Amino acid sequence: MQQHQARKRFGQNFLHDEGVIHQIVRAIDPQSADKLIEIGPGMSALTQPLFQAVDQLTVVEIDRDLVQFLQKKYAAEKLTIISADVLTVDFAQFGDGLRIVGNLPYNISSPLLFHLMQYADQIVDQHFMLQKEVIDRMAAKPGDPLYGRLSVMLQSRYRIIKLFDVAPESFTPAPKVISAVVRMRPLKADRPQAKDAAVFEKVVAQAFSQRRKMLRGVLAQWADHIDWDAVGIAPTDRADAVGLSQFIALSDMLTPLLAKTEK
Ligand code: SAM
Repeated sequence: MQQHQARKRFGQNFLHDEGVIHQIVRAIDPQSADKLIEIGPGMSALTQPLFQAVDQLTVVEIDRDLVQFLQKKYAAEKLTIISADVLTVDFAQFGDGLRIVGNLPYNISSPLLFHLMQYADQIVDQHFMLQKEVIDRMAAKPGDPLYGRLSVMLQSRYRIIKLFDVAPESFTPAPKVISAVVRMRPLKADRPQAKDAAVFEKVVAQAFSQRRKMLRGVLAQWADHIDWDAVGIAPTDRADAVGLSQFIALSDMLTPLLAKTEK
């Protein structure tokens, strides 16, 4: 499989640095009975050590040449290969207790993170290699220049822990950006939650639609229904100063209005 030509459209940058591979596997700490699913196994840099550590492994790969390569290399009894675009995969089929890992194709990071969020109740943890800047955005707190919609939405559902950076030279071909590895643990059912998830998503998206503007302007269309003091937000604040609990309070305040008009 030496000749596989890396396909840019599938975000293919293959890990070759044994030290980094070892570091990722140690962070995952796979146990034999784990229900592990790897997204984008590629040429099996991570698949190989994971395969050795667990009784059963499932992988999802879009590139048919790589699927063929994996079929030849591994026994079907132990490796289940799903030949598909991961964004179309219904993770409900795998049941509970899932551990999801992958050196992800960076071109679909956000849609993939949001796709998996639907299944967070079934997931124990996720370990992903992503572009460092995306992980910094995921973990950013209010006041941080990278704090935005991605931070609020993901932090409403997961504990996000950035683990370590990975240099471009660890991959073939080398990507133009620095990478990093993140651990995501879904929060339990007793986490602070908005009454209506769709309204929450809408309010957060609107608030960050013009992040340099004051919220009284950005949310002007709903201003008659907002009691700023009650939600603990100043009308002159910008979205990047607003924390998760304040967004939840704002969303709950707007739910009677927005949940109704959406129907
Ligand atoms: N895990 C390998 C490694 O570490 O060397 C490959 C990582 S490479 C960054 C991303 C992998 O995801 C490639 O194998 C690529 O073909 C696969 N991929 C890209 N888009 C995908 C999609 N939508 N669904 C499933 N796999 C995808």
